[in-house]
Amino acid sequence: MADDPTEASITRMQKFVQKYCEKSGTVTHPDTEVTDSVVRGLAKNQDDLGRPLCPCRFYPDKRAEVQHRTWICACDDMQIYKYCHCLLFVNDEGLPITEYLPEGHEGRSAYGLVRDPTPDKGRPLRDKAEEREKERLERPS
Ligand code: SF4
Repeated sequence: MADDPTEASITRMQKFVQKYCEKSGTVTHPDTEVTDSVVRGLAKNQDDLGRPLCPCRFYPDKRAEVQHRTWICACDDMQIYKYCHCLLFVNDEGLPITEYLPEGHEGRSAYGLVRDPTPDKGRPLRDKAEEREKERLERPS
């Protein structure tokens, strides 16, 4: 089907996910359908846009969005807070890590406090947390 991602992109994203799990100390969701669906969404965006834009969000203009790195997988939320909104990178119970999210973030409201089982891994952009939170609070709601 024309709307399906290419096998090459699916394979590329599967490899990326495996490597990123190791790097970040997370695992994929115990329900493999969740993982497959996110991987296919990422692969489709890779095919259409040339970048693995997060498939779990709405964008008024996808092409404009890929000019920023905010929602390119692994997105800023993952690299700063280790939080994956799509449930692709989670803990053993299939829950996203919310420990580092600021109060009032949607992930905290949805899942409560979920501790990071591997605090020594991931969050390469953790130093940007303060800057990111400032931007979030300044955004019109
Ligand atoms: S929420 Fe972030 S880390 Fe998770 S799949 Fe989307 S872009 Fe990737």
